[in-house]
Amino acid sequence: MNRFRFKLTALFVLLIGLTVAAAGFWMQWSYWNSHLDTLRDRMARELRLLQEAAPWPGEEDPVRQREWLREQAVRFKAAAGMRVTYILPDGVVVGDSDRDPAQMDNHLDREEVRQALEDGIGYSLRRSESLEERMMYAAAAVRDREGRPLGVVRLAMSVADIERGMARTWLGLGFGLALLVLVAAVVSYRAARGVTRPLERMTEAAGRMAAMDYSVRVPAGARDEVGELGRALNAMADSLRQKVEEIRTSEARLRTVLDNMPSGVLMIAGDGTVTVFNRQAERMLGERADDHTGRSYTGLKRHYELTRLISRVLESREPLHGELAFHFPEERRVEAQLVPLDGGAADSGALVVLQDVTAMRRLEKMRSDFVANASHELKTPAAAVKGFAETLLSGTVKDEGTVRSFLTIIHDESVRLNRLVEDLLDLSRIESRQVPLRFSPVELKPFLARQLEIISAEAARKNIRLEMEAEDGLFIEADEDRLGQIVLNLLQNGVNYTPEGGRVRVAASGLPAGTGGGEERVRIVVSDTGIGIPKQDLPRIFERFYRVDKARSRNSGGTGLGLSIVKHLVELHRGSIAVESEVGAGSRFIVELPVLQP
Ligand code: ADP
Repeated sequence: MNRFRFKLTALFVLLIGLTVAAAGFWMQWSYWNSHLDTLRDRMARELRLLQEAAPWPGEEDPVRQREWLREQAVRFKAAAGMRVTYILPDGVVVGDSDRDPAQMDNHLDREEVRQALEDGIGYSLRRSESLEERMMYAAAAVRDREGRPLGVVRLAMSVADIERGMARTWLGLGFGLALLVLVAAVVSYRAARGVTRPLERMTEAAGRMAAMDYSVRVPAGARDEVGELGRALNAMADSLRQKVEEIRTSEARLRTVLDNMPSGVLMIAGDGTVTVFNRQAERMLGERADDHTGRSYTGLKRHYELTRLISRVLESREPLHGELAFHFPEERRVEAQLVPLDGGAADSGALVVLQDVTAMRRLEKMRSDFVANASHELKTPAAAVKGFAETLLSGTVKDEGTVRSFLTIIHDESVRLNRLVEDLLDLSRIESRQVPLRFSPVELKPFLARQLEIISAEAARKNIRLEMEAEDGLFIEADEDRLGQIVLNLLQNGVNYTPEGGRVRVAASGLPAGTGGGEERVRIVVSDTGIGIPKQDLPRIFERFYRVDKARSRNSGGTGLGLSIVKHLVELHRGSIAVESEVGAGSRFIVELPVLQP
């Protein structure tokens, strides 16, 4: 993470260190050289001075000459602070300020001596074996008038002072260098951090953006390249967030549209993956979208016909449609439209639109059934009338009793025909809502009594007891004639389908507001102790022409339309009707109507 920062710091420190070290070396070198130059000059001057002040003695007694040279050397040493040595041209030392010449070896091999004999003056810087320190030697040749060499005078001086000075400088320089490196390290680390810190922040921000967190912002830095980069990053986060929000909104919008569509919609990608599975499709197929989205459509195992259609459309790339029968979760007929999708994001998959046509098909079937039933119902009495009338017209029947019975049959059948036609007309008018209801307040107790009165003769004939139970002052707003039709129809059925000696009963009671439907209602129950209705027929008895037992119903003069008319009339009053029954024990028809009509 911080490698760049450290690298930058190390580079700075190295550069500064090298510069300072190079400067130090150069300084030391020139210090040393200039001191040595100065020393050489001084020693050359001293040599000249020495020769002027005390010239080499002439040809005298060698013992005295040596004595004199030695004294001279000691005196000069005391005055100038330099070691003085007198050497003969053959290298023999004849006088020395510090040591006994007799103990000293031949000096002809000394560099400064050789140089002096050749060039007149010579220098050398080396370690003195006898004094064990570095010395600067300067030697000058002494010649007589003819120019023959008499000897060599040599001065020697320690350079320890200069060396000490240099060591001191080195120490100071070392400390300075260390301090400088330290300061440079701190300063350059801070400077490097100044550069890398914003970069690190940006890296971190970019990482979070990659993880879809678009709320991150890089602190706006200076107006330099790094600052510009930060601002560009912030702008990018802004626009990304905006785009993502737009995408989310439009996705949610699309989802809402899809989920609130009355049709089921499935979208299949080219590789067979389900990409869209809307709520209506969930309902129709009885499957959960989560179990299928992102997976292959072949997972819809319970809907084999549908998966086969999808396979076909994916292969043929031609639009297809078909009507499917679903048995799960309930019996349904569904029309499926399949369209191949081409290119783009849909990558050549297919779109499936499912339409529930169960109600439509049921209606169509009811309509055709109705025509068949109506013709059938009309055919029987019409055939009877025609047959008996033809027989009478042929004149073969002479007996008055038979003629009369034939005429009675013709009459009865035409009455039946008439009732059937009337019921049909009534039903069609009610169904198409052409009957205007005239609402008025009806007091139920006297009203129900009147209905019982109407049916009483028929009940008496079958020895059926009629009972009534109704609260006093129970009013309802209704169309009195139509309400009469409802109650009378139910009573009539009760009497019809109850054997002799049975009982038919009507009861009315008020239901306070809040129970069931919410508003205030009245419940009218017509019950009997008759033959009852088998359980499997209960859901169908309100259908047109539906009869549990055709023969019995026809005998009782029924058309199979009564309950159908009753149900429609109840619904016109915004009420509901239900039936409970047990075969052999009796039936209960429960009608609930609102007390007030809008
Ligand atoms: P119908 O004119 O034949 O009586 P409805 O529509 O009134 O026709 O009744 C339909 C069928 O319901 C009848 O054929 C009958 O089988 C049955 N049903 C109606 N009411 C009763 C009842 N109270 N007891 C037994 N069966 C009944």
